[in-house]
Amino acid sequence: MERVIIFDTTLRDGEQAAGGALTLEEKHEIGHQLQRLGVDIIEAGFPHTSPGDFAAVQLLARELRDCQIAALSGIKQEQIDSTWNALKEAEAPLLHVVLSTSDIHLEHQLHISREQALELAVEAVRYAKRYCSAVEFSAMDATRSDWDYLCQVLAATIEAGATVVNIPDTVGYVQPDEFGALIEYVRNNVPGIEKVTLSVHCHDDLGQAVANSLRAIQCGARQVECTINGVGERAGNAALEEIVMALKTRSDFFHLATKVDTAQIYRTSRLVSHYMGMEVPPNKAIVGANAFAHASGLHQDGMLKERTTYEIMTPKSIGVGESRIVLGKTSGRHAFRQKLEELGCTLSEEDFARAFAAFKELADKKKEVTDPDLEALVAEELRTVSETYHLEQVQVSCGDHTVSTATVKLVAPDGQVIADAALGAGPVDAVYKAINRLVQVPNTLTEFSVKSITEGIDAIGEVTIKIESEGRTYIGRGASTDILVASAKAYMNALNRLLAAKGKE
Ligand SMILES: [Zn+2]
Repeated sequence: MERVIIFDTTLRDGEQAAGGALTLEEKHEIGHQLQRLGVDIIEAGFPHTSPGDFAAVQLLARELRDCQIAALSGIKQEQIDSTWNALKEAEAPLLHVVLSTSDIHLEHQLHISREQALELAVEAVRYAKRYCSAVEFSAMDATRSDWDYLCQVLAATIEAGATVVNIPDTVGYVQPDEFGALIEYVRNNVPGIEKVTLSVHCHDDLGQAVANSLRAIQCGARQVECTINGVGERAGNAALEEIVMALKTRSDFFHLATKVDTAQIYRTSRLVSHYMGMEVPPNKAIVGANAFAHASGLHQDGMLKERTTYEIMTPKSIGVGESRIVLGKTSGRHAFRQKLEELGCTLSEEDFARAFAAFKELADKKKEVTDPDLEALVAEELRTVSETYHLEQVQVSCGDHTVSTATVKLVAPDGQVIADAALGAGPVDAVYKAINRLVQVPNTLTEFSVKSITEGIDAIGEVTIKIESEGRTYIGRGASTDILVASAKAYMNALNRLLAAKGKE
């Protein structure tokens, strides 16, 4: 079967999502997981826009060998120079340059004529080509551009050496049939289009990103740009998992394949949701918690008689599985290691030792340690932010006839243990006030959510918070069987991120 190229832009467009900022370590881990997932291309960042993006592109370009690494660039020479510097160590680099082609953007944002834009696009591709044999040109806001002008620009950039041309629906405006017609128009009116890869990049402002991407594929596009969980600018991008599973489940209709290992989908979705602090809605297609939950009696009856009555794909196909190994108190290092491998975690010896110790501690409190428990535990142990302050101890007294009081001990940067106590409107408030007395960084708490990772009263609670300081948002997470401890850990995590970011400035 012919293949569709999956171009993942979770780390670039996805990371632009409001409040979704990732640390280098988190991008590193997500990058490795995307490689395991089997995407063809990972767009790792927009190097000349921030040092963080530059470092992420450079790191993933060095380390990932089984997929192409792309980086986005503006059209100026110094921007392309900087993008190439980040990208050059990749085994298979793809230099991605972007310029608008719609009159709205040319007139109101860039203040240049169509002729000037055409010339700039051609020059940029030619310049990029001096560094890199694989160059992608994106015609930003293509779906609101004049079709003939768009074709002219694409033809000229192909002539200049572009190997991929991308038609983005930047503002999520186009409708499926209209987009299909545009793709056909481009295929019929751009000389040289048959020699290059035709790509699409859709946004979900009107809820059509996946439908538009699939329609484009039917009309001959062979690369789709998408993100895990559909994260991205505004309403987000086309969801990778939905496109891949549609192609797979309806291969009788599309007659096309991808090289994605769908059994890695669920894990990748969890990882991205966790690190970006963006919950997946329960009813989300493919990866939502209810995506495979059959609630109506009629449906359950059918499922018990024959699964295919109401199930078009299995949970197992995306990696939600009946696991073969269940861990408990008596499980040893060997079983633990095997389980981690099953979950796709490969840890260094040092991290493994730490994770194993934490597992033993947890197994003492919980009878059965489930896969989600382990994922939380590993994420917790590998907490990927360097700690300025370390939480040593938290103790709380609360109840309905008492004022909540918290005592907190921290290890300060100089190694000293510092302690303080505070009263609060509730136990969490008291803990946060006590921490504030020690770490004196003004901030506002904007979001606080607690979720239990598994069922049962002894489940691990995971707290996710967002704090704001000087207009920037910082995510913090903490997990524990005690939600007050988890709350304290989450707050320390967010504060440490804030301090790390401040230190870099
Ligand atoms: Zn986009």
